Amino acid sequence: MGEVHPFGVSPMKKQRKGRSFNQTKDYDAPSAFALDMDKLTEETAIEYFIRVRWSDNDGKPYCPKCGHQHVYRRKTRNSFVCANPECRHNFSPTSGTAFDNRKLSYKKIILAIHAFVDNSKGIAAVRMRNRIKMTNRNAFIFGHKLRELMVRDNENLAKEMPRLTGNIYVDGKWIGGHQRQPNEVANRKDLRKKENRWSDRKSIVSIVSDERTRVAVFETEAASVPWVKSNLAASAVVHLDEAFHWDGIGVLVETRRVNHKIKYSENGITTNPVESLNARYERSKIGIYHKLSGHTLYYATELAWRDDFNQHALLPMVDMMVSHALTGRRCRKWRSNHGQYLAISERRAEIEASRARRQAASIHT
Ligand SMILES: [Zn+2]
Repeated sequence: MGEVHPFGVSPMKKQRKGRSFNQTKDYDAPSAFALDMDKLTEETAIEYFIRVRWSDNDGKPYCPKCGHQHVYRRKTRNSFVCANPECRHNFSPTSGTAFDNRKLSYKKIILAIHAFVDNSKGIAAVRMRNRIKMTNRNAFIFGHKLRELMVRDNENLAKEMPRLTGNIYVDGKWIGGHQRQPNEVANRKDLRKKENRWSDRKSIVSIVSDERTRVAVFETEAASVPWVKSNLAASAVVHLDEAFHWDGIGVLVETRRVNHKIKYSENGITTNPVESLNARYERSKIGIYHKLSGHTLYYATELAWRDDFNQHALLPMVDMMVSHALTGRRCRKWRSNHGQYLAISERRAEIEASRARRQAASIHT
């Protein structure tokens, strides 16, 4: 990925070691370059999927179950049958991957990824729906499938390299929990008072370093301290603001603190790299998604990913997403189980619990 920078990279990004979204894979030049998005047909899209899925075998399909090299292609259904008489496994380029059990055509999947990647602050499901001609629900779920891939990729990177070193910038950002006032003035409450406040407010805490940005979501910024500590190597130099809950990190590694009440930056001590990421969360919330709470971690991971890759060329990014999806496992939270999605049912349970909490609180007052 490193060499494709038609518009150059920002100095901040240059410092990063260019760990790509899909560093573990090595296959020949990005195949998406061969695709002309305007003239894309279902046939070229399928061939592209086959090339990417079996890139470890020169683009020649083999059985994912028994590894048998000889397979028959069933032209009518765009699927394959294993020639091993003991196996006879039926499979397609997407079986067992994030796009398993797909309902969208291959062409639409590529166009949807293209649209998804081509927006620096995200793409609303409604816009995706109009652009690709799919249903609203499909567009929403497809976007979240891609976000889940990003979350999974982050987890893998964290496993590969649990502790970060060098200059590290950490800060949190409140997101969500907006409370609407009742219509009638007489019913309105003073939201400054604690008893009138109920909140789904969460804190997105981001760790910006030379490596890929790591994000996690907590009830409060203070609750993130153990997680931040677990990401630091002994040689790390951590830039933090004046909030006292960060004090514990100073015991572990070298810290540089800047008091935002006085200055944002002093002698290179600053949390500005995180502030610019925080601004991206905010602008994406205002301009695109309108609401990040609910599936906060997915949106936060997406936006951090966009921040990391915002200077990269478009088509290699499409390539990266497709090959990442096709060489990994199925989605866990955003995988259809007879039309049900784990992430959606979990969110519903969360909303129910929050409603119950609010009702219990209003009985007391
Ligand atoms: Zn087989």
